[in-house]
Amino acid sequence: MKFYITTPIYYVNDEPHLGHAYTTIAADVLTRYHRLKGDDIFFLVGADEHGLKIQQKAQKEGKNPQRFCDEIAAKFQFLWNNLNISNNIFIRTTNLNHKSTVQKVLQTLFDKKLIYKGEYEGLYCIGCEEYKTKIQLINEKCPLHQKEPELIKEECYFFKLSNFQKKIIEKIQNNEFKIEPIERKNEILSFLKKEKLEDLAISRKNVKWGIPLPFDKSHTTYVWVDAFCSYLTGINWQGDCKKIPNFWPPNLQLMAKDILRVHATIWPALLLALNIPLPNKLFIHGFFTINGQKMSKTLGNIILPIDLINKFGVDATRYLLLSQFPFGQDGDISIEKLEKKYNSDLVNGLGNLVSRVLTLAEHNFLSFSDNNDIKKDIQKTLEKYEKTMKNIQLFETLKIIWNLISFYDKYMEEKKPWKIKNKPEQLNKILSSLLEGIYHLAVMVLPFMPETSKKIFTQLGVKFKNQSIEQIKFKIKKDENLFPRKK
Ligand SMILES: [Zn+2]
Repeated sequence: MKFYITTPIYYVNDEPHLGHAYTTIAADVLTRYHRLKGDDIFFLVGADEHGLKIQQKAQKEGKNPQRFCDEIAAKFQFLWNNLNISNNIFIRTTNLNHKSTVQKVLQTLFDKKLIYKGEYEGLYCIGCEEYKTKIQLINEKCPLHQKEPELIKEECYFFKLSNFQKKIIEKIQNNEFKIEPIERKNEILSFLKKEKLEDLAISRKNVKWGIPLPFDKSHTTYVWVDAFCSYLTGINWQGDCKKIPNFWPPNLQLMAKDILRVHATIWPALLLALNIPLPNKLFIHGFFTINGQKMSKTLGNIILPIDLINKFGVDATRYLLLSQFPFGQDGDISIEKLEKKYNSDLVNGLGNLVSRVLTLAEHNFLSFSDNNDIKKDIQKTLEKYEKTMKNIQLFETLKIIWNLISFYDKYMEEKKPWKIKNKPEQLNKILSSLLEGIYHLAVMVLPFMPETSKKIFTQLGVKFKNQSIEQIKFKIKKDENLFPRKK
């Protein structure tokens, strides 16, 4: 089965932060899970590189905007490599094919009379790159940037967003266009039923760093048509609405809650306007606070992804971020909490179990024997694992895996295999059960911690190939502990 998954196309005006890493790690976990199941998966990440903010920042640093984007985009790519993200493409909106495709899209919409020229007067926040309505402002300031937006009156082109409101509500309601979790779906539906969607300004005259409108070169288009189209150009769409690449539509688009509104209004409206099928599902996750406070430069409490990698290692960083609170809700983290979790779950949990079992097995294991009293527990765990992974309940999935780890810890305490070294057959049976369990743990943690999983397979002396456990010949070779203990 084909599976197409995306993260948002991040705006590269600044270095990647923990929120970017969180979405992307989650998407990678789901990608690796689907790959494990044999799905034909395409995983897209990307960079949104146009707009006034980048133009101004590049100017301030005395750089050509393309060079500015190249540098920041490279930082994103560097981080994704570091975090072992297995994306198929890193699409950049300054890519030539992307630019020409966006121009085709603009021309199509213009020909369909869904883009028209008008005059816009509004409050524009440079930080957000969008006009703000009075409702969005707090004390006349943009709540995100703590700045008063500028009053701008200008000639611009509009997209007839208002045409599509009814259709979008319908598609969300009947789940043709799914929005999860359910609270987010309800939130967006009540917004769409209350507020009338206004036509959307899609061009600027004084912004040079953007894609020119093909029918009026004195304007460039900004963010909406440009960035959203990269979900299509990233799978090599050339702009012909009758020739959509096979991977379309996305099975899943992951994002944080701050961009739900535009993804549930402008994005489907553009697709409807072009007669292109909508994505199957948007899944929306929450925000982090650090020790109960918002992450901010002024508070000095920013945790960068690279700090976590340096402190805990790549796999542990992936695990720790997803094991803090349910994916889809807001949650609080702190370095102390992460350290505690590292020690309890990774050093004393998974790492210790693997080390104890392999130490015993290295010298006492004879050959694999089927042991049914433990098979039942593995089977139950595997069923729950499948169910939660399918529902994108990553936090719950990890809980299920770690319950199995505690189960094996208890099993060892009960059977005390180290005390029956003089009864080789009995000991072999217990070790077989434990090795079977560790094998399945390595399979289940693979999407979350691919390198750890690989290390376990290596120590078990097996190559992972979806084979049944009975056919596996373990060749135990204990190595150093999976997770170094920290003070
Ligand atoms: Zn703003």
